[in-house]
Amino acid sequence: MADVVENLRVVRGEIEKAQRQRAFDEPVTLVAVTKNHGVEMMRQAIDAGVQHIGENRIQEAAEKFAALNRAVTKHLIGHLQTNKAKQAVQLFDLIHSVDSEHLAAAIDKAALSVGKVQDVLIQVNLAKEDSKSGVYEENLQSTMEFVDALQNLRLCGLMLIAPNYSDVENCRPLFHRMNEIFRAIQSTREGFNFLSMGMTHDYKIAVEEGANVVRVGTAIFGERIY
Ligand SMILES: *Cc1c(COP(=O)(O)O)cnc(C)c1O
Repeated sequence: MADVVENLRVVRGEIEKAQRQRAFDEPVTLVAVTKNHGVEMMRQAIDAGVQHIGENRIQEAAEKFAALNRAVTKHLIGHLQTNKAKQAVQLFDLIHSVDSEHLAAAIDKAALSVGKVQDVLIQVNLAKEDSKSGVYEENLQSTMEFVDALQNLRLCGLMLIAPNYSDVENCRPLFHRMNEIFRAIQSTREGFNFLSMGMTHDYKIAVEEGANVVRVGTAIFGERIY
């Protein structure tokens, strides 16, 4: 069994160390990713001070949140199918994974139907990996304009999943570039506050390069057994 309390202490320490490497002072939100772990792990993390939980599948999240019985901010970090948009807006405070205009429109419609304005991030596929979803950099502006025109979405920032390089340092230029893109947009908009990047193998570098939201699972809860 993973020692969640001890692991959280280590991860928070690494985040603080990485924050000290940057030129600016900004808080970093730790999203503890509980996918494929039971609701008991979720509770352990929350009882140890975690305020943000990340899940990637609607069905699994619905079951766990129903049993959770704790107040926490809920993040959807995985790809969302349009036919599950309604459940997603009912379950999640922030959807990180808006990766197409088609999906944005579906979430908007779902948000309207439940009377909510849904906070979202646009997922960017900066490395143009075929295996990953996300908007290409050259389409980001037009996708943002599309989302801005939707009344029931609030665009709060960007999300990146870096390629799984064997040498994690190879992620650094991508994180650096993503931060530049994010800060340039942020300087022109209100409420555009979140740059979500960094997972267990690369969150230290992501924070050094400007991430203010990291999504960490394995380093807190141990390996997932599928
Ligand atoms: C699973 C997942 C994470 C967490 O991954 P770890 O390597 O376990 O930290 C972060 N972001 C996304 C999008 C994920 O699907």
